[in-house]
Amino acid sequence: MVTTRFAPSPTGRLHVGNVRTALLNWLFARQSGGRFLLRLDDTDVTRSSEVFAASIRADLDWLGMTPDGEARQSARLARYDEALARLAASGYAYRAYETPEELDIKRRLRLARGLPPVYDRAALALTEADHLRLAAEGVAPHWRFRLSPDLPHAWDDLVRGPSRIDPASLSDPVIRRADGTWLYLLPSVVDDIDMGVTHVIRGEDHVTNTGVQLQMFEALGAAPPAFGHAPLLAGSDGKLSKRLGSIGVAEFRAAGIEPLAVKALLARLGTSQAVEPVADEAELIAGFDLSHLGRATPRFDEAELAALNAKILHQLPYAAVRDRVPLDEAAWTAVRGNLSTLSEAAQWQAVIEGPVPVPDLPPEDRAYLAEAAGVLSALRFEPNVWRALTDRLKAHTGRRGRALFLPLRLALTGRAEGPDMAGLLPLIGQPAALARLQAASQASG
Ligand code: GLU
Repeated sequence: MVTTRFAPSPTGRLHVGNVRTALLNWLFARQSGGRFLLRLDDTDVTRSSEVFAASIRADLDWLGMTPDGEARQSARLARYDEALARLAASGYAYRAYETPEELDIKRRLRLARGLPPVYDRAALALTEADHLRLAAEGVAPHWRFRLSPDLPHAWDDLVRGPSRIDPASLSDPVIRRADGTWLYLLPSVVDDIDMGVTHVIRGEDHVTNTGVQLQMFEALGAAPPAFGHAPLLAGSDGKLSKRLGSIGVAEFRAAGIEPLAVKALLARLGTSQAVEPVADEAELIAGFDLSHLGRATPRFDEAELAALNAKILHQLPYAAVRDRVPLDEAAWTAVRGNLSTLSEAAQWQAVIEGPVPVPDLPPEDRAYLAEAAGVLSALRFEPNVWRALTDRLKAHTGRRGRALFLPLRLALTGRAEGPDMAGLLPLIGQPAALARLQAASQASG
């Protein structure tokens, strides 16, 4: 069964780049009827917090991407110990003792000699007696993973196509610190094996990690998942800006953005498919294809999200909003075409119910509205009553365009702009509409 995972560290709120990574994994899993898991990478206990873990879950829920399961690394430390023991036994993990200062000197010396600044593996020459002596002196080792040209280091990336790293170009990565804490690389591999992860979709900042982790899967005797690396998002200015790091679900909610709009934009950003105001997420799931992702840096633009949000609202069926708006279906259908955010719907319900402010109009418009009230009182209040009213007024008064419509709109809604009056007037109803026309016709200018 296809299994993907979203693996944030609970050290902060999700930002839009994280949301996109989660979405790509969610879409992939949903498309194939698979599982989408949340894994909390919380081995850094000083920076991880329950508050952020809870906010990550809440954000995924709001987005409609509730995970099918959850694991957290802090609860799985024994599994990482076991994996390290196996790697040590097979010679793929080894103990080293260099301090950061010593490593820095080594790096400089190698660079000065024109050599790549990778770790020289001096620790591999230590004997068991050396290790015992160091232990007796109270010096604890850190652990490195031994990269090898004989282990796999090429893969067919779901986004980038054939990809590889050169193991000789990298230092053997430190996988566990001298204080016993874990770095990200090995725990992630152990988790992916234990959780049955089949596809890892993440940002292209992890490409090198993938080369290393492929070797770890093999060294642990496990089949690796498929990998896909998406280009990282940039801001609308084209920069991998700090600003993006501060935009997340809280900002979307405050701006009245629908979860569907977030998904519709992020699913298509940087792909060959157009960003469209889809009617539901099923369209996004059906059309999802990682190979449509390009290599160029996609730009996330809040203005584009706001515009897409409006377009989505304009066609959103009542069933999608009935629990969230104080409107009945007819009112929703009448006003949705005018909304930028869902919260604006309530204002139009208030307009339908009234009272509305009485506009201050010049005498000729007041006379016109008195005539309108007369015409309206003689009309049957049918769904097309707006058309009937304005056709008659046009014929009687010779008014056209703005002069014909604006006074009516002002009197009936108290505003100069808004949803199509043809939809609103039947909802306002005949008695209220007559009262509003009369009030506006009598207001002293
Ligand atoms: N915690 C890692 C990150 O957020 C997970 C990377 C991965 O998907 O393996 O970058």
